[in-house]
Amino acid sequence: VVQVYCEPLTRAGEKFGTVIVHRDITKEYEVDVMKSEFVSTVSHELRTPLASVLGFTELMLNKELKPERQRKYLTTIYQEAKRLTALINDFLDVQRMEAGKQTYDKKYDDLVPLIMNIIETYQVNNPSHTIHCDIQTSNTMVLGDKDKIGQVFNNLISNAIKYSPDGGDILINVFEEGPNLNVSVKDQGLGIPEDAIHKLFTKFYRVDNSDRRRIGGTGLGLAIVKEIMKAHEGDVFVQSVLKEGSTFTVSFPLVIGGNLQDDKPHDQE
Ligand code: ADP
Repeated sequence: VVQVYCEPLTRAGEKFGTVIVHRDITKEYEVDVMKSEFVSTVSHELRTPLASVLGFTELMLNKELKPERQRKYLTTIYQEAKRLTALINDFLDVQRMEAGKQTYDKKYDDLVPLIMNIIETYQVNNPSHTIHCDIQTSNTMVLGDKDKIGQVFNNLISNAIKYSPDGGDILINVFEEGPNLNVSVKDQGLGIPEDAIHKLFTKFYRVDNSDRRRIGGTGLGLAIVKEIMKAHEGDVFVQSVLKEGSTFTVSFPLVIGGNLQDDKPHDQE
């Protein structure tokens, strides 16, 4: 997509030429298209949980219900309200990250208990999937913001579940590779078309095909993962085979003996 801008050149009221500027605005155009898709996705994503909250509240107000039924409805209302909060937090996070205003409270921490806690929660709520975890190193410390790193694994594991609609195994590996501590999340789900791979971490981007049209989302999760990993001097990579599954790998700088691996000892500086 090219934007053309023409400016007549005049000297003493006389036109003696024209400046023509061609600007490639393909990127801006793509972002615009994604933004308008995003607005309709967001309205849908906000409406769905709100409709449940309203519907179940109305039922509870208008009917005499047995305590177990009340509890069931209240649980749904609670979960849907939590979904709405998470959604709004994602929007705010992306905005803050873009404005460079996101703050990170970094401390040395062990990744394993953090990952195990998240796995446990997802396993309890998703019995149709089996989540395995293989810790292949004892160097599992990172320098990071625990909440934000938790958000990375939440996004990756929830995607692994969401995009494996027929269930299946999810394998989480924690391993060292060179100066990095890596965590991979592998699923046996829908996989990702090759031409979509390079766009996955762009905000608002969602793969559009018939397999996943009914799966909800905003296209923000992986953009947030990318930003958080960048803020931890790390990165995120993906390998995927369509209809076989995907593996998302995040890498952190390795910490050994309380020092970042990249830190040089003082006498070598
Ligand atoms: P959302 O899930 O809200 O759409 P994300 O940024 O988390 O947004 O993901 C972007 C897109 O990448 C998704 O729409 C989905 O098509 C694809 N995707 C992400 N994770 C997976 C996965 N594990 N398997 C297959 N496709 C995935």
